[in-house]
This record gives sequence, C-alpha cells and structure tokens, in this order.
Amino acid sequence: MKIIMLGAPGAGKGTQAKKIADRYGIPHISTGDIFRANIKNGTELGMKAKSYMDAGNLVPDSLTLELVMDRIHQDDCQNGYVFDGFPRTIPQAEALEEALRADGQSIDYAIDIEVPDENIVTRMSGRRACLGCGATYHTVFAPPKTEGVCDRCGGELTIRDDDKPETVNKRLGVYHQQTQPLIDFYQDKGCLAQVDGTKDVEEVFQDICELLGE
Ligand code: ADP
Ligand code: ADP
Ligand code: ZN
Repeated sequence: MKIIMLGAPGAGKGTQAKKIADRYGIPHISTGDIFRANIKNGTELGMKAKSYMDAGNLVPDSLTLELVMDRIHQDDCQNGYVFDGFPRTIPQAEALEEALRADGQSIDYAIDIEVPDENIVTRMSGRRACLGCGATYHTVFAPPKTEGVCDRCGGELTIRDDDKPETVNKRLGVYHQQTQPLIDFYQDKGCLAQVDGTKDVEEVFQDICELLGE
C-alpha cells in the first residue's frame, strides 16, 4: 500500500503516519526527518538543506527528489510506504507519478488531514521532538510521561528551530501557495481522501483506518 499524507505543517501528518506504518507494517518516510538527520550528522545534503528550512522555505525539488528516489528503491519499500511531508510541490508530485509509472505502480491513497490555520500555531508551539528516535509529543495534547524526556528512547526532547511562531506563519504561507494545490492534483487522480484533523489523535486514526478499509 502506497500512501501520501497531505496537510498543513502541524496538521498531524507525522503522528498519523507513524501509526499507519505500525499498523500496516510499511516504512514511514518523512523527508523532514531525513533532512534533520542529515543536518545533525553534518552531511553535505544537510548543509544544503539547513538554510531553507530555518527560513521556513522549501528545500529545492532537485535535492528532495534525489533523496526520495533513492529511498523508495530500497528493499523495505517493496510492499509500500507512507510518505509524510512529500510531495510538497506539483513538480515533486509529477516526478513521483513518473517514477511509479515506470515501475507499473501508483499511489493508493492521498490522505489530507484538514486543520484550520487558527489551530496550527497552538499545535506548533507545544510540539516537542526527540532527535534520538523521531518521536513527537505535545506539551498539552500528547505529553511525555516525564517532562522533556522521550518515552520511547529516553532521549532529550527539543523544540524544533522552525517551530517559532514567525517561522510557522511563513511555513503556513508556503503551504497554501505551493502544497495545497496537491489536493486538487490527487482529487483528479481519484485517490484523495480527507479527514477532520481537529479531532483527537485516536479519533483521526480511526477515521483513517476506516477509509483504508482494513
Ligand atoms: P512539518 O511536519 O511541520 O510539516 P516537516 O518536518 O515535514 O515539517 O518539514 C520541515 C521542513 O523541511 C520544511 O519546512 C521544508 O523546509 C523541509 N522539507 C521537508 N519535506 C520537504 C519536501 N518534500 N520538499 C521541500 N522541502 C521539504
Ligand atoms: P505534522 O507532521 O503535520 O507537522 P505532527 O504530527 O508533528 O504534525 O503534529 C504537530 C503537533 O500537534 C505535535 O506536537 C503533535 O503531538 C500534536 N498533534 C498531532 N495530532 C494532534 C491531534 N489530533 N490533536 C491535538 N494535537 C495533535
Ligand atoms: Zn526518542
């Protein structure tokens, strides 16, 4: 099963993608996590991506596509995957279609998690992330058992550099301009499904499982 998660920054794509990946036994591919891991490890890709990310802009399509094409051809992707944060532009979506078509494949579901802009800043200001294992928490909506410590790996929880309110507003603008058009793109392909992302995490996951029909 090949799934794409769509939605504004902070809509809950990562939270739901991890649950889908666990339930269906497919890898969770977050381009944001891959970029952050590269920045942490000081790779060339990380150095190239950092300035765009810190400013709340998108990393150029060419850099993003290079890493995604490499990732989907790895062995663990044979039975599918759930993309979180990719594609984010029409050229990225077209390149993905093209690559899948070459392998006789297509996307099964593009799940759009709908959350109004007003809710996003609150979501982001409380987001805490574990740099060790990628787990995500929220100070109010999804707190860890011990403040500042990851439940899964004991790592330290940090605030992402790009979750400052100014950068969040910038990212929302970029989302509306460059990423939202993908909703129509996947609607036209016939694989779009929309869920109400203002419900709590478990309810949203229930709704997603129902539409995946399993
Ligand atoms: P969020 O989960 O808040 O939507 P992500 O972790 O997906 O944020 O992405 C963080 C940043 O990484 C983005 O603001 C952007 O700079 C960069 N990024 C991630 N995925 C892509 C992509 N597919 N294309 C371009 N830039 C990306
Ligand atoms: P995205 O990947 O779309 O940027 P995340 O999954 O990282 O979004 O979620 C953003 C923040 O909102 C996190 O702190 C997360 O714990 C919290 N969150 C996710 N889903 C919900 C929800 N349904 N209700 C309340 N908070 C949520
Ligand atoms: Zn962790």
